[in-house]
Amino acid sequence: MYNSSHDFTFAIVKPNAVKAGNTGPILAMINKAGFEITAMRMVKLTRAQASSFYDIHRGEEFFIPLIDYMTSGPVVVMILQHQTGNSVGRFRELMGPTDPSEAPEGTIRKLFAESPRMNAIHGADSKMNAEKESNFFFSGIERFYST
Ligand code: GDP
Ligand code: MG
Repeated sequence: MYNSSHDFTFAIVKPNAVKAGNTGPILAMINKAGFEITAMRMVKLTRAQASSFYDIHRGEEFFIPLIDYMTSGPVVVMILQHQTGNSVGRFRELMGPTDPSEAPEGTIRKLFAESPRMNAIHGADSKMNAEKESNFFFSGIERFYST
């Protein structure tokens, strides 16, 4: 049964990474870093869906290019759980910073980002957003809870 105090994060393999055939290598890195995938689906976002998902960035100069990018091809959306109970923080570490030129070795963005916009991976930035973003894409019946 769903428990909102449950620890998890929400992630997206972005269009450039899917297109380049990097979904498999990214999923392998995610598993190797100790995350369990508890929901996953491939989807092509509409502009309305991408705009709603990134509503917080509406008005930024990179908003329209971001929506163009996020709707340019299919993405893989997923819910992840890390056994430490710090899924959000551990996944942000594994991703690396937004701008890949600042990303440390061993991060997903260091390996697979092409630019600050086409940066291969999304991860929720807080527990609240992990919850919100997970509910945007997945119903309860599509989620598998790990204890
Ligand atoms: P994230 O949490 O590290 O993904 O970064 P943000 O939430 O700040 O931004 C969301 C997404 O918008 C990023 O992952 C990029 O794809 C894009 N983005 C953010 N900042 C910039 C920027 O300064 N330039 C460009 N071109 N894209 C950006
Ligand atoms: Mg963000």
